Amino acid sequence: MQDAVDVVLTSEHETSRVAACLFDTAHSAVTINMRPECLKTHFRWDDRLGASSQFIHAELAAIASFKGNLRGSHLCVTDPFCPNCAKNITEAGIRTVYIDHKGFQKDFIARNGDEFQSMSMLIAEKAGISVYVVNRKEGSVSPILSHSAQTRPTPSAIEFFDIDQGMKIEDAVMTFKKRFGGRDAWTVAFVREADGSPRGLLVFEALPPGITPEDFRTRGESDTGKYRFPIDPLTRLLITARRMGFTFLDPRIGCACVPSSRALVNALGFGVQGLILASELCDHDPSGADVLKIFKDKTLLTVERIP
Ligand SMILES: [Zn+2]
Repeated sequence: MQDAVDVVLTSEHETSRVAACLFDTAHSAVTINMRPECLKTHFRWDDRLGASSQFIHAELAAIASFKGNLRGSHLCVTDPFCPNCAKNITEAGIRTVYIDHKGFQKDFIARNGDEFQSMSMLIAEKAGISVYVVNRKEGSVSPILSHSAQTRPTPSAIEFFDIDQGMKIEDAVMTFKKRFGGRDAWTVAFVREADGSPRGLLVFEALPPGITPEDFRTRGESDTGKYRFPIDPLTRLLITARRMGFTFLDPRIGCACVPSSRALVNALGFGVQGLILASELCDHDPSGADVLKIFKDKTLLTVERIP
């Protein structure tokens, strides 16, 4: 926790600074909420990109840069995690989250305490993640959600396919466009497994593990709310690849529709270089199309379209 606290003031964000430390027995990654490097030459720190602030949350930045095994890893964070980070934490397979007690006195919890309770903690509870508060001064660690020896559900709606001789990622996007029509939000990538074998990876938008449509209805989900329960398929795919130890055979990702502005910023943070779109329709966030155009015009991302 102290490693995260030590760097938190280095965040470029002038009003909201958060740091995280992700660790297992052999590795650790210490990160702050940060902008993808390529955005710094084009935008001021406080420019908005659609619904995104340009900043990747510290928790996701830690997941993106961690070199150890995400499954079963532990996360220290200076502030209570937002619902989007809760989703990313479950997707990564992180087992325990420690929150600095001072984070509960800060800005996020004053503004978003309800969302922390009703969404972040619900997502952690359903996913079997233990959450503790660390009081560095007292040297104490107190559980606010403890899951000893409880199983954690595996993320679902992930499929694999063989890459046939000569097959290109454009061909896969075309195939899935025909198969799913406009019904589902999915992303596709060509990856190399840890043992070196090539594999096609198809990831759908999904609810976090253990979250049911009933939770979805009763927790006040609305189209205008700041947070949604489903995890967008682009961020899911990027985290899934990290969790499974895959590397990308092709730096481009195929997408059923235009990703949200937040997912596009996350993709830059994970080093995605291009998208192949199966349709011009926007995911839940209509500003995704504007942000995609900006990224294309500034050559931050290549954008190809499947007719
Ligand atoms: Zn967050």
